[in-house]
Amino acid sequence: ASEAEEKDLVIIGGGVAGYVAAIKAGQSGLKVACIEKRGSLGGTCLNVGCIPSKSLLNNSHLYHQILHDTKNRGIEVGDVKLNLQTMMKAKETSVSGLTKGIEFLFKKNNVEYIKGTGAFQDENTVAVNLIDGGETSVRGKNIFIATGSEATPFPGLTIDEKKVITSTGAIALQQVPKKMVVIGGGIIGLEMGSVWSRLGAEVTVVEFLGQIGGPGMDAEIAKMTQKMLAKQGMKFKLNTKVTKGDDSGESVKINTEAAKGGKEEILDADVVLVAIGRRPYTAGLGLDNIGLETDEKGRLVIDQEYRTKIPHIRVIGDVTFGPMLAHKAEEEGVAAVEYLTKGYGHVNYGAIPSVMYTHPEVAWVGQNEQELKAAGVKYRVGSFPFSANSRAKTNLDTEGIVKFISDANTDRILGVHIVGPNAGEMIAEGTLALEYGASSEDVARTSHAHPTLSEAFKEAAMATYDKAIHY
Ligand code: FAD
Ligand code: NAD
Repeated sequence: ASEAEEKDLVIIGGGVAGYVAAIKAGQSGLKVACIEKRGSLGGTCLNVGCIPSKSLLNNSHLYHQILHDTKNRGIEVGDVKLNLQTMMKAKETSVSGLTKGIEFLFKKNNVEYIKGTGAFQDENTVAVNLIDGGETSVRGKNIFIATGSEATPFPGLTIDEKKVITSTGAIALQQVPKKMVVIGGGIIGLEMGSVWSRLGAEVTVVEFLGQIGGPGMDAEIAKMTQKMLAKQGMKFKLNTKVTKGDDSGESVKINTEAAKGGKEEILDADVVLVAIGRRPYTAGLGLDNIGLETDEKGRLVIDQEYRTKIPHIRVIGDVTFGPMLAHKAEEEGVAAVEYLTKGYGHVNYGAIPSVMYTHPEVAWVGQNEQELKAAGVKYRVGSFPFSANSRAKTNLDTEGIVKFISDANTDRILGVHIVGPNAGEMIAEGTLALEYGASSEDVARTSHAHPTLSEAFKEAAMATYDKAIHY
């Protein structure tokens, strides 16, 4: 970067929030630079998050299916062996293809890519410690902070990414552990726990709450999902908190007790996955130099237009409020640039889907039953099981349901919750319906191709205000 030149926009962090904002800014004709310290674009999601985990989820599912679910399909296979090294290579190929793709998109859209760590010098200047050595600085009329998040550590356990791991270690283990304890039955715990369980590890998930999947997951769906995962071999300890751990020996000892106090137990594992949430990352960013502070959870505080109290400095993605999801970060990247170039932008935080990529997948959008009950909203529920869906039956993949929740008076859709095959793709239709303010009847009167899994979606909508045909 040339020190003299002032950019229209400087973005610190080349994760999903930052790189999307950079491309959008380039497309809008702004002079833009994006600073990334990792040596590769795409942030957590592409390098150590969404993408590598989904590669392992897909291939471990195939392996598990070939082992346990081929005979009844008339497919007889011989010796099935796991080659973990090749499975990891396949993951790396997906990751590098995608991260390089973003470099290409940067060039195409005239985004200057600065490889290094950025820190505020003053309100318009970012000093950069370059990866290849040396320093530079870049000035911006506007600056976006998009520095993302990191795994929350567990006090007393030292993360070495081998014996005590976060998700980053969990996507890179070199052998299948015999016993794995997962602290936290949220999305990371269940996705990565699934991967290693399918590959042969004995996995026990310890979760503080009374349900898996986190509070956003509908309680009925969470219960069903837990049963399905248990059938696959995962063990669960709910209403149980991990109080401390000891990683000084060869194996790791994990002390647990009933969440409400009482019953204690010590678990023994050769690998412990710490998956108790992620926290905003602002270390080394020089926030002190510009007088910006974070809240009690480490988040940078912003207004509706993503502005900090220094109006030309905006914040997007995991480092600020809202769900820590890649597609949320992406929406904010676009909206923040639009606020800059046009004065208005749009993100509907009420219609951001969540997907857990286990098998079957779990996906939801909008509000769940326990939230609506707590808010005193009158609602109707319609659900439809995949066991009554023709396509699921032909695929011999019939576990799960689609569940619609709509307003009791107006039939307007309030939430859609799915556990079942392809739930992650199907939820897009629920999100669109929610975004457009559709009623369940609107969905049910829309023709859905036969035979597809999406007919279960249509029939669940139908069951919300009337009766389903096939159940
Ligand atoms: P990040 O992706 O964390 O990017 C921030 C970037 O900023 C990083 O690359 C970092 O190196 C860089 N940076 C930080 N400080 C500086 C600095 N001072 N100077 C220069 N660069 C800096 N979300 C989904 O929606 N779907 C999924 O399937 C999914 N799977 C996940 C699986 C795992 C295992 C994990 C951990 C997360 C997953 N997520 C998923 C969440 C998703 O990865 C995040 O929500 C998303 O990456 C947030 O994007 P971001 O740009 O805000 O932050
Ligand atoms: P999470 O917040 O989803 O789940 C953490 C769980 O740990 C909670 O259920 C919590 O009750 C439990 N917990 C906390 N302390 C505990 C203790 N001492 N003992 C027992 N249980 C304890 O966090 P995560 O699973 O680490 O994921 C982090 C973020 O990454 C999330 O925001 C998630 O949305 C995102 N992510 C998304 C996807 C996806 O979209 N498919 C995949 C992976 C990660």
